[in-house]
Amino acid sequence: MTSTLTFCGGAGTVTGANFLLDTHSTSSGQAGTKLLIDCGTLEAADSVTALGFSNAEAPAKKISAQEHGCDTVNSAPFPYDVKEISALLVTHAHQDHIGRIPRLVRDGFSGAIHSTAATKDLAAVMFDDALGVMQEHAEKFGCEMLYGAADVERALSLWAGHDYHEPFPLDDVSVELLDAGHILGSAMVRLTRAGKNIIFSGDLGNTPEPLLRDCESPAGADYIVMESVYGDRVHEGRSERKEVLRAAVEEVRNRGGVLLIPSFSIERTQILLFELNDMVEDGSMQAIPVYLDAPLASRVTQVFRKYSGLFNPAVREHFSRGDDPFSFPGLKVVQTTDGSHTIRRAPDPKVIIAGAGMSGGGRVRAHEKYYLGEKRTTLLFVGYQASGTLGRRLQEGEKRVMIDKEHVKVRAQVSALTGYSGHADRDQLLNYIEQAGPSLKKVFITMGEPRASLFLAQRARDFLGVDAVVPQQGESCEIEF
Ligand SMILES: [Zn+2]
Repeated sequence: MTSTLTFCGGAGTVTGANFLLDTHSTSSGQAGTKLLIDCGTLEAADSVTALGFSNAEAPAKKISAQEHGCDTVNSAPFPYDVKEISALLVTHAHQDHIGRIPRLVRDGFSGAIHSTAATKDLAAVMFDDALGVMQEHAEKFGCEMLYGAADVERALSLWAGHDYHEPFPLDDVSVELLDAGHILGSAMVRLTRAGKNIIFSGDLGNTPEPLLRDCESPAGADYIVMESVYGDRVHEGRSERKEVLRAAVEEVRNRGGVLLIPSFSIERTQILLFELNDMVEDGSMQAIPVYLDAPLASRVTQVFRKYSGLFNPAVREHFSRGDDPFSFPGLKVVQTTDGSHTIRRAPDPKVIIAGAGMSGGGRVRAHEKYYLGEKRTTLLFVGYQASGTLGRRLQEGEKRVMIDKEHVKVRAQVSALTGYSGHADRDQLLNYIEQAGPSLKKVFITMGEPRASLFLAQRARDFLGVDAVVPQQGESCEIEF
């Protein structure tokens, strides 16, 4: 049997994951099934690449998009008839995998949505947050809303939560969710039909990870559609990671300064809290005021507490002895915007963890505006900074940046801990492909910047002798499935 796989999004870009699998008709003449895997938003910087602007044009386009605050890219029509889609399978709750789901519903999708239960709960929090941002942009700039509260409600009513390793049928396709070890609830989706297997990796974790269980193997897959965010890079030693964090805290303590950490709401923030929790509670680090100025991350942490059973044994052990691994002496959770101002008035030294991770929005921008001009500040990145974002420009050492129409001269020390990345690196990705074993016919390398994807594909061909291709946006491919 053959099926058609179409790369509707997440090809040639890190974000905007959206894959369509059309199983065509069966031998008995029944109509085929159209399944979508992920339905994410394209981030602003990526959208510029996806729309074919050259690099030289890109910065101007990005600034203009940010100035207007309107998201015009993600409201473009879907490149398929959404009413014909029978089901949507969701790998994990990052916006670049879920962000357009309520829009899909608004445009007429009425099939079922499937993911782990944790992903569904996290998605509900993420949609609610995104609605708030869109409402603000609609009021301020007259932007069109990508979706409304009713669309979110309807999407959640169509959504079923599943456990890992509990296969369920969708017509003649069997679906199984395997632990991807990337964020809480993250799964790779394994589809089986007539003895053939295709795995959609979603994002793959940087195993072993402090909170999560290890990423599972794709053993036995005939095809893999996989991510390649770090397809051309290797992470620094993770064993030093906690010590580098400790050193960064001690440095600002000695300097009487501020350690500012732009953090991602899901996973990175909880890992930071967990590692600070460990150091403070085992007595190896003296308590220091730590401000969590990220309301979304705080809500997400509540979902983490609810699914404590999904963590690795070391973290579950904290819960079983009654210790909250995300809370420790010195931690102050800030809820209101007034709280952000209070943090600035609080004496140094202190640690501020604020969203968003790439400094594209959220409360971190105000802190960056205030603190980057200070020599006593350390700005510490703990995750991937997409090309074109403020985070990437700061990471690359720009000394003058524009933050919300204000020029900021950067005197702060800027460093990065890539060991905190939630993504598998080049060697882990190659190892993942190798684990598929001799059944593997083809790997589609997606969800990466073109350079990273092409590098990984080349390595897979040269070192593993695997047929690895980098599909283009919109490209379709026939597979034996
Ligand atoms: Zn992700």
